[in-house]
Amino acid sequence: MSVIYDRVALIGLGLIAGSMALAMRRGGLAGEIVGTARSAETRAIAAEIGLADRVVESAAEAALGADLVVLAMPVGAMGAIAAEIASHLKPGATVTDVGSVKAAVIRGVGPHVPEAVHFIPGHPLAGTEHSGPRSGFAELFDNRWCILVPVPDTDRDAVARLRHLWEAMGAHVDEMDAAHHDLVLAVTSHAPHLIAYTMVGVAEHLRQVTDREVIQYSAAGFRDFTRIAASDPTMWRDVFLNNKEATLDILGRFNEELFALQRAIRSGDGDFLFEYFTQTRAIRRGIIDAGQDTDAPDFGRGRGS
Ligand code: NAP
Repeated sequence: MSVIYDRVALIGLGLIAGSMALAMRRGGLAGEIVGTARSAETRAIAAEIGLADRVVESAAEAALGADLVVLAMPVGAMGAIAAEIASHLKPGATVTDVGSVKAAVIRGVGPHVPEAVHFIPGHPLAGTEHSGPRSGFAELFDNRWCILVPVPDTDRDAVARLRHLWEAMGAHVDEMDAAHHDLVLAVTSHAPHLIAYTMVGVAEHLRQVTDREVIQYSAAGFRDFTRIAASDPTMWRDVFLNNKEATLDILGRFNEELFALQRAIRSGDGDFLFEYFTQTRAIRRGIIDAGQDTDAPDFGRGRGS
């Protein structure tokens, strides 16, 4: 494949940016990759493992002269970083992000992006519970979806170029508006994470069951919850604080359905439970048929799930 952007700046060097660096390198998609992170420790690791061609000390320095600038830190920090890099951006450059929420990022970052620079928010639907500069891998985006959320009047050539990059990194690309993105992700990712955090918290607080038993006898259900509940605390704090409305809406619906299931259990309504579980099983089948997971019995514990 050929170079899509001459110089790419990765600001934040964790799971997502690290995977982008490796995927870009795999495809020869960037002339040069410049990276930076908040801490000297992360920058030193990134330099040691060669995650970027150049690791620099500040976001402003990374953004200077870049054709594509990727914001890849927790969403709550993106506005401040955008303000820091604004005057260093090259006219004609593209700024994108990989944050898990979109409306709040557009509100936080958009006002700082100069007129001559394209701002194209994005979100790759790919991840693991691991984080940090050593956690990335080139295959993370293969056969996963990346959603681009161009704001109205965005230059279509700039969108096409960014779409081309994600496709060349292995992803399928879709476009939607920010509100719709945030609602879809509240259902498919944010509320499930909160429920997993809660379930693991319940087990933690349930003192009749000893910690040893919870760990030793962790069967598939609980074990899969713990994997999700091991996700990065900073990232997920920011996701909930920045996608409040949609997450609370979905959790309200979740509570209603949970009450209905509780009532069915209490009243011995086996038909209701059977019908409900039959429908949910069909959704699982649909995900496998769409190639977004495998039927393998170790579901959820493989790399890149
Ligand atoms: P990560 O592995 O934890 O890495 C985060 C990076 O951001 C680190 O380099 C960190 O630097 C830097 N950072 C943290 N706080 C910062 C701040 N206040 N100012 C500047 N830089 C800061 O995170 P990640 O999983 O790659 O996630 C990055 C973004 O991708 C998030 O917005 C997240 O919502 C989104 N995302 C994540 C996933 C996922 O499953 N993980 C999936 C899709 C999208 P230090 O190491 O020096 O602290």
